[in-house]
Amino acid sequence: MTEQTPDQVHDVVIVGSGPAGYTAAVYMARANLNPIVLTGSVTAGGELMNTTDVENFPGFPEGIMGPDLMMNMEQQARRFGADIRHEDATELILDRPIKQITTGAGEVLHSRAVVLATGSAYRELGVPGEKELSGHGVSWCATCDGFFFREQNIAVVGGGDSAMEEALFLTKFASQVTVLHRREELRASQIMVDRAKANEKITFVWNTEVTEVQGEGKVSRLILRDTVTGEPSALDVTGLFVAIGHDPRTALFKDQLTLTADGTAWVDGRSSRTSLPGVFAAGDVLDPTYRQAITAAGSGCVAALDVEHWLADNVPTDAAEVPSETTLNSPVPL
Ligand code: NAP
Repeated sequence: MTEQTPDQVHDVVIVGSGPAGYTAAVYMARANLNPIVLTGSVTAGGELMNTTDVENFPGFPEGIMGPDLMMNMEQQARRFGADIRHEDATELILDRPIKQITTGAGEVLHSRAVVLATGSAYRELGVPGEKELSGHGVSWCATCDGFFFREQNIAVVGGGDSAMEEALFLTKFASQVTVLHRREELRASQIMVDRAKANEKITFVWNTEVTEVQGEGKVSRLILRDTVTGEPSALDVTGLFVAIGHDPRTALFKDQLTLTADGTAWVDGRSSRTSLPGVFAAGDVLDPTYRQAITAAGSGCVAALDVEHWLADNVPTDAAEVPSETTLNSPVPL
């Protein structure tokens, strides 16, 4: 592992690269804070890289493809000098004035401020067969895997916007898409519900949950349970797309920061300030409710402005060196 020389203390490192991370980077680069962005080695761009048309991000009257939107944001951040690295953060030490961020390459970065923009991860059903048949008929990404289900009968589980979007996208390939929802009422927005209901390839099965995914080497059958009567049933499909929401990605720092009851990073009011000085959160990782590209982008802007003010208030102008080990473990110098 290569330790950095002590005089390399960055102002801010951003961990994560969805709309929150890139927006924070744009603002902070324009404020001459020279942000480093650790985008993730395989997840650069975040969830929107797995999306098709984004129709509700303001400024794109014809809509824009999710990956194009994220590449635009990355380019915009680079234009102002953000140091964007397609690397993971593998360890964070946040409880000291100069935080340490270990990258997947083994480099240890030192930074006065850190913005956590790690987003959220696909939720799993947690039923037998799901993990075993993942990649063999069980998928979390229609845009990635839909192509493999040409002229097949497949199912989507979930009742939110993601489930509707996945189901609609999958009708381009599949002959029949069955949406399985555990209640009788969809959570998705009306426009998505209307589109899904108008599509003749999509059928809905209400009050139903998946209790098992079966198949020898690939999915062939789902075992279902009626959530009202408890009656079991079976559905023969060759694919199952799980679209039941996301959980905040907090594994890297959940033992160091206060979390909310929803498992998101706790922040102080409408700010991005977490329970640790110099540590800020942005995007889905703090948001159990809205989780839109535009709200994540707004949240990244909030974090950038908070970091800017915090650095101005907390870093003495002559503070250019990493404190000694003793100082590292002491409270933030004011
Ligand atoms: P979501 O809105 O939280 O919906 C999750 C759905 O999965 C709910 O219907 C939920 O059922 C169901 N569910 C959760 N856990 C389950 C389980 N263990 N078994 C079976 N079903 C389960 O998540 P989302 O659809 O991923 O959307 C997240 C956010 O992104 C939302 O704000 C959404 O509007 C946004 N989004 C927007 C678009 C768009 O505008 N084009 C596209 C995708 C996502 P219950 O309803 O019973 O709780």
